[in-house]
Amino acid sequence: MLNLVRHNDNSRKIIQDGYALLLVSHKSELQSQQLTELDGFILDTDSHVHAKEIISYVRTHTNLKVALKPLFINGTYQLPKEQQIHCDGIVELSTISSYIQRVATITKRVQSLNDPKLVANQLLIQYKTIAYSFTRNLQLKPVTSRESLIGYEFPFISLFYKNNEAVELLKNLQKATEKNYLSFKLLDYIHLCKSCSGNYLNFRECCPKCDSIDIEAHDMVHHFVCAHVAPEKDFKKNDGLECPKCDKNLRHIGIDYDKPSTIYSCNSCSHEFQNPGMLSLCMDCSTENKLEELLQKSIGSYAITQAGEQLLFDRNTGGERVVYNEGIGNINKELFKIIVNQEIKRIKESKGNSVFANVKFQSNQLQLLNSRSKNALMKEIGEVIKSYLKDSDILSAESYNNYYVLLPETKETQLNRLELIDYNLSKLLSDNLTEEKQEIEITIHKIAESDNIQTYFS
Ligand SMILES: [Zn+2]
Ligand SMILES: [Zn+2]
Ligand SMILES: [Zn+2]
Repeated sequence: MLNLVRHNDNSRKIIQDGYALLLVSHKSELQSQQLTELDGFILDTDSHVHAKEIISYVRTHTNLKVALKPLFINGTYQLPKEQQIHCDGIVELSTISSYIQRVATITKRVQSLNDPKLVANQLLIQYKTIAYSFTRNLQLKPVTSRESLIGYEFPFISLFYKNNEAVELLKNLQKATEKNYLSFKLLDYIHLCKSCSGNYLNFRECCPKCDSIDIEAHDMVHHFVCAHVAPEKDFKKNDGLECPKCDKNLRHIGIDYDKPSTIYSCNSCSHEFQNPGMLSLCMDCSTENKLEELLQKSIGSYAITQAGEQLLFDRNTGGERVVYNEGIGNINKELFKIIVNQEIKRIKESKGNSVFANVKFQSNQLQLLNSRSKNALMKEIGEVIKSYLKDSDILSAESYNNYYVLLPETKETQLNRLELIDYNLSKLLSDNLTEEKQEIEITIHKIAESDNIQTYFS
């Protein structure tokens, strides 16, 4: 069910299964939005320039939670592979629901991360890159690119470096590999200009004595009958070959003669030699490089390791891993309190918006059930409530008729999922009980930095 909403501010949002994806055709459309409230973006332009700006704006956003949000490409448009690698794939708007699972998976992983506490720029880039790999569960595999100075563009991390800083990029990836945060799989070797690190090189053979590239290759001819060996030009006579030593005609290669090697002569200094030198001219800065002067670098794909995952959830760099409930149902109240406490601290730092909600109802009929039945009912209602929540929301139950919900990154104006719970739970109970219409009571509380745990559980 595609729901393309054109809002008053002219932004175009697709709301699907509770996720809001913003269609973006120009960077300015992002600047006017509260990016933390969106669940992802869809590039909606065939302008490579605009697409590049949008990709860079999102992925290098200082808020890591924004930088890692799902970013798709509208399948109507063709974008170059250098841009595709920074995105989460191509979507067809007509079947948008089939991509929501991917949005949900990425969102859940992004929300499990805490904001990095690193300040050193190179380390921060390392950290973000590892987080990108983690949230996508993805190997970072480079693509060849004529636009890149080194001939390769890497997913995500390339966006943090200017073209002339590509060697720094490789060094930073290498450091992360040395610390075992990323694993490395070799794909290619590249050779870079000694003065500008460029990869656009023109290789030519040259005279080893004077470096001139004006050299000529001649086949050597070996005449079997008389054992004479000389350059082929010495055998040339009219249209054929004739031995200058014994004057016989050479007819069949392999029978009369063969060509055992090649000899070079330099047209500048007349030097003759068997092994020419090699020079590579940098097409960017015109530096002539000898082979041994070129900078050789390894290119390969990178994947997050277990040590990398640990780094993300380390207190000193990232933060503690918040245990989000993977399954349907609810988590126990003690763990829930810990998470709420953490959320209060997080709000204190991030000034974000989160909501705590309490869902209650009264039923004289259900009150009569034995405790085992009440427990089973609690589980069942928990599942109903959970089905209307976002993956990042956390649910806990006090009893069969009293539930707590934590809605992280949610404003008080974004509570339609609570309205759905109100309506559907009330209907469910009313349909199944002979009592009068069931009233659900939902109280909400915006989490404030001055709160403490007693604010919610007196
Ligand atoms: Zn150069
Ligand atoms: Zn001969
Ligand atoms: Zn020479």
